[in-house]
Amino acid sequence: MFTQKPWNAVHVSSVPLTSKASKKLSNGAHETPPISEYFGELTFGLGQMREKLPKDAYQNLIKALDHGKKLNNETAEAIATVIKEWSVQKGATHFCHWFQPMTGLTAEKHDAFISIQHSHHSELKVIERFTGSQLIQGEPDASSFPSGGMRSTFEARGYTAWDPSSPIFIIDGEHGKTLCIPCVFFGYHGEALDNKTPLLRSCQVLSHEAVEFLKCIGDVDAKSVTATLGPEQEYFLIDKNHAQARPDVVMTGRTLQGAASPRGQQLEDHYFGSIPSRAQAFMVDLEQELYRLGVPVKTRHNEVAPSQFELAPIFEHVNIAADHNTLTMETMKRVASRHGLVCLLNEKPFAGINGSGKHCNWSMSNDKGENLLDPGTTPHQNLRFLAVVSIVLQAVHRHADVLRAAIASPGNDHRLGGNEAPPAIISVFLGSMLDKIFNSIEKGEASQATEAQIINLGVGHIPNISKDYTDRNRTSPFAFTGNKFEFRAVGASANVSVPVSILNAAVAESFREATSSLKDLLAKKKTRDEAVMELVRELTTAHKHIRFEGNNYSEEWKREAQKRGLPILNTTAEALEVLHQEKATEFLVTTKVLSRAEIESRYHIAVERYNKTLEIELRALSELAAGFIIPALEAQIKQSGEALAVLRTQGAKASQAKRLEAMEVSLETIIKEQTALNSGLESLHQQGSELEIMKTISLKLTPLAHKLRAACDEAEKRIADNLWPLPKYREMLFLNSQA
Ligand code: ADP
Ligand code: MG
Repeated sequence: MFTQKPWNAVHVSSVPLTSKASKKLSNGAHETPPISEYFGELTFGLGQMREKLPKDAYQNLIKALDHGKKLNNETAEAIATVIKEWSVQKGATHFCHWFQPMTGLTAEKHDAFISIQHSHHSELKVIERFTGSQLIQGEPDASSFPSGGMRSTFEARGYTAWDPSSPIFIIDGEHGKTLCIPCVFFGYHGEALDNKTPLLRSCQVLSHEAVEFLKCIGDVDAKSVTATLGPEQEYFLIDKNHAQARPDVVMTGRTLQGAASPRGQQLEDHYFGSIPSRAQAFMVDLEQELYRLGVPVKTRHNEVAPSQFELAPIFEHVNIAADHNTLTMETMKRVASRHGLVCLLNEKPFAGINGSGKHCNWSMSNDKGENLLDPGTTPHQNLRFLAVVSIVLQAVHRHADVLRAAIASPGNDHRLGGNEAPPAIISVFLGSMLDKIFNSIEKGEASQATEAQIINLGVGHIPNISKDYTDRNRTSPFAFTGNKFEFRAVGASANVSVPVSILNAAVAESFREATSSLKDLLAKKKTRDEAVMELVRELTTAHKHIRFEGNNYSEEWKREAQKRGLPILNTTAEALEVLHQEKATEFLVTTKVLSRAEIESRYHIAVERYNKTLEIELRALSELAAGFIIPALEAQIKQSGEALAVLRTQGAKASQAKRLEAMEVSLETIIKEQTALNSGLESLHQQGSELEIMKTISLKLTPLAHKLRAACDEAEKRIADNLWPLPKYREMLFLNSQA
């Protein structure tokens, strides 16, 4: 029998049975209307602008959007007026500039709509007011946001500016409604202080370079290219009572101790199994909230680990997808709390079972809406497809190190450096069919590139490269999945803007070079198709080392990758150093996605963030040992000692004494490891720079923490259930599946 623990009390839902999207019927019952009726009801986007704005104001807005121009004051006033009317009518009392600082998810600065007027009888009158300048620009006190040393403290000004390409929305929170205006955040000299600014810059340069290339291969009317993104979000749901009874979860969002549950994920019964009803209720509520916010979420299913789930949106323009993903993460936390649950977005909440990633499905489409990574139907589209794939291969090969750095975080270290899905080595998986095609192109089997030859290769009619041909390799960090690439190594808690702007920049640079090579080839060669084919051959030959179809977890691959000269960066500490190599990050500067100073500041912020996160984790672990595990073990020793004394009166067996001895050894080990960790922590800040602190944490303290954790996990197995003071893995992971 398991002891009944206070944290296992049956959860009583505080959620009303009806959601906010549902409507009251005349008979008193509630009904949820079709999604189409309330989708986006809390957003104000271009569609509504067109409806509500005077014609010329709307046209000015579109012009400003298309050409990246500033809005004139009159237009801004007109837009502010319609937005205010809409949001006040929706019940919003406050507005905020919503932006993505370089740490954490998002930041908001709230202001009330009201403004106080003095009428001529000198009585006060409160009116709702929202001006064009309040819409367009704000000046939050930036000194509390990290700038990585770019902003000296005396010039602590930062500005937010409306990003009109992302819809404005209302957060319907527990304590009222707030109008949120998606913004970029920058310093006095225009330096990016957020994650959205580089993303927007990367979209611009990618579009420009891709269009140049498309024109060169014969798509002369190409006007723009859009990067698209569908980020699949993995997460864990645990009971709030469990989370609150674990100081490590409260402090760090993950467990720092926990012996393996007898049942983990070995039965593989959770994946696509039936969704437990509590989780299901959460998902329905979450989806409805997201639909009201215009976030197009689509699928829900269980992931590999118990209590792990996934949410996939329908892909959108990367900028909107990135805003929607941050909004999704925030909404998940809020809705979970309403359901008495905690949503864990950390990459590794539990040891020994799968962590959580955010698979970034990424592609590009032209202004006709054709997906450039879709083989298409005509030989020309097929050729274009092969060229674009080989351009992406070049980009990933060249910048594998910076892409790795872009996804580095303390949480992700446990996935990438640990023994599970995607490894820390970036490679590209193409699937057997594409692999074969590229191999024959490389061998020159299509050197003439007559239409017949292309068709012989299967290039003329690349059949729909469906999931049957791809996506079979779940071990790859960057896999082609039919009509898009899936960057799987991104961590669950990441802001997607970071890896995606790096990817966009790398691909933009690759397009730029491909255009120039193609121009050279065209000058020498006969037909355009032959020249394109030759380019594809050159690229696949030069970059075949980035392709890997095998098992990414295997030891052979590590050796092979090393031989190929691919970067192997197992830890955040190693990966971040890449940002210090001017040569490695040069492409970010030449594509104007980040300046040298901006790269430098991002490096400093990442190092500082790593140090702070790890220091909190290490201190929390030490406290857990001191405050919970050591006392529990002592209580157990006392109890077992008393039992042994009783047994001794009857002539105790050696095995009984041994049991007690083992507990004493366990206690000694924990105390020893904890003392070592503590003294490491005490001297940590005697290290000079943040960089030295990072190295000490990564190389010295983390291994000490591993040992302490192992000793605590060992102790857990020796302690009676009724003396164990923390929710165990089996309780946290499996309760959901019963309720
Ligand atoms: P799969 O079965 O390969 O995972 P899905 O159709 O379920 O494919 O899509 C997974 C994710 O990829 C979804 O979020 C989807 O919107 C996204 N996706 C599909 N096509 C594209 C694309 N062209 N660009 C970006 N993301 C895409
Ligand atoms: Mg997937």
